[in-house]
Amino acid sequence: MKRAKIFTSIRLKFILFFVLLILLAMQIIGVYFVRELENELTRNFKDSILNRVKLITYNLEQEFLEDRSTEGSTSLEDDIEKLLIDNKSSDIEEMRVYDKNLRVIAISDLGSRNKVGQRTTDIVVTRTFVTEEMIEKMSIDDATNERKWQLYVPFKVNDQVEGIIYIEGNIERVFKQVQVINQVFINGSLIALVFTAIVAVIVAQTITRPITDMKRQAQAMARGNYSRKVKVYGYDEIGQLAITFNNLSKKLQDEQAKTDSEKRKLSSILRYMTDGVISTDRKGRIILINEAAETMLNVTRETVVSKNIIDVLGIGDEYTFKELTEEQNSIILDYSTDLLPLIVRANFSLIQKETGIMNGLIVVLHDITEQEKIEQERREFVANVSHELRTPLTTMRSYLESLSDGAWRDKEIAPHFLKVTQNETERMIRLVNDLLVLSRMDSHDYQLRKEIINMEKFLDHVIDRFEMTKEKGVTFIRKYPKEQVYAEIDQDKITQVLDNTISNALKYSPEGGTVTIRLSVQNEELEVAISDQGVGIPKSSIHRIFDRFYRVDRARSRQVGGTGLGLAIAKEMVQAHGGKIWATSTDGKGTTVHFTLPYDRDQGDDF
Ligand code: ADP
Repeated sequence: MKRAKIFTSIRLKFILFFVLLILLAMQIIGVYFVRELENELTRNFKDSILNRVKLITYNLEQEFLEDRSTEGSTSLEDDIEKLLIDNKSSDIEEMRVYDKNLRVIAISDLGSRNKVGQRTTDIVVTRTFVTEEMIEKMSIDDATNERKWQLYVPFKVNDQVEGIIYIEGNIERVFKQVQVINQVFINGSLIALVFTAIVAVIVAQTITRPITDMKRQAQAMARGNYSRKVKVYGYDEIGQLAITFNNLSKKLQDEQAKTDSEKRKLSSILRYMTDGVISTDRKGRIILINEAAETMLNVTRETVVSKNIIDVLGIGDEYTFKELTEEQNSIILDYSTDLLPLIVRANFSLIQKETGIMNGLIVVLHDITEQEKIEQERREFVANVSHELRTPLTTMRSYLESLSDGAWRDKEIAPHFLKVTQNETERMIRLVNDLLVLSRMDSHDYQLRKEIINMEKFLDHVIDRFEMTKEKGVTFIRKYPKEQVYAEIDQDKITQVLDNTISNALKYSPEGGTVTIRLSVQNEELEVAISDQGVGIPKSSIHRIFDRFYRVDRARSRQVGGTGLGLAIAKEMVQAHGGKIWATSTDGKGTTVHFTLPYDRDQGDDF
């Protein structure tokens, strides 16, 4: 893996490219140069020998033409030998002169003088005599294994070939010289290569360093780190690339920050919204669920993620996922348990790609339990009101029918029938009045006219009214604290609360019973408790007696003239004062209705 990395690195490629380029250039130049040099040197070598040969052949002719009849003159052989020795040079190994009979006349190498006078067996000498043309030949010396250049040149005297001069050139010297030059060239090339490699390393580094930097930066960016910057080494194309890269990185960082903040916003919206949100993939598997949805469905994220939405919503029997994606309307889901009512409205919307292909589904769950409860209460209320009004009206209708059928003539029955219709009318008026009071309280269309009053005096005033009626022979007992209690209340409203509760106590009291009204104060509230010794209220009903139209015993309540709204009105009025109202009872032994009102001990200081 490491090796592969090295071989794939730009730097190495760059260095290899440079070195190979130089190598190739050197090679081409070297081959051409050395070959040309070799040709040139060989040509020079041959030219110089040929020039010399020309001179020697001329001199030979002269020697042959010279008159040697005079006494004391030197022999032709000696003169030619002298001529050869005079023309000897380093590039000529040996020179010989042959006469027409192929005998050696003279030889430049004095050590081989014994060959003078011998006939030669060299076939080229014979051929030269025959062709009368100069013959040249390259051969290798058997003894030294060196190359030599052999030249056979015929020379003429009076237009007749008189002999042949044989010259053996030391051409190996030229080749050795070329070899030396070649070696110099190779050495030079090697040095050039080393320098090229060094330069290539430096150049490659200047090019690859910013690229390596950018690679590292890109890797860091992939890991989400945008803080790094690529160093800009210059303003060439790579420098500009680095600047562009840095700009790109900055933009990406900004975009990432934006996306992150949007994500955070979205996730906090999802977290704190009261509606449940579930999103699925295109196959209906849950990919996201917020806390509200978890609570509504009583599940945890871990258990439902990647489960099918149909199963999690528990609607597998009625819907398939496809049907859900096509559902235009919301559906109502009832998750109520014995302990907790829970009704949820689910809305569905598709997540679509730009191409329109469905990518998933978003389900929004809205808790409509309260709404449903209110709706239910409204329905019940309307039914109750209708019922409460219909009962007296039907009673009245039947009595009036009887009267119009002739009962009005009966002096005994007529007044009784009229009394009943009058009672029923009054009950209806009471009912309508009570409904109006409640409606006003509901719409907050009222103002509390609060004033500071002495509670004992206030209670006495109300109780006195009841006491005076002497109804059922009930005795009223008042229990007040020792100190005077002052409170800031709306007298009319609290009078109504007392009227409703005391009249209830009276209604449900046995003949000659007692009704106790107790006033007590705690730290910041006062409590009024109205106790009777009546029928009491069963435990199962005690928390419902403050509901509108609720009656423990419908028939008896109606008998005693109740509307079923008295305690509901009392509750509204106490709550309007910021107090609480509740009842305690022992079935069959009596009931106590308690209510509290805010109390400020210092309020009575001014009185
Ligand atoms: P109603 O007009 O029927 O009395 P209320 O709202 O005043 O209506 O009371 C609701 C119901 O509570 C009554 O119908 C009655 O059944 C029960 N109730 C109220 N006060 C008493 C009480 N002191 N003793 C027994 N039952 C009571």
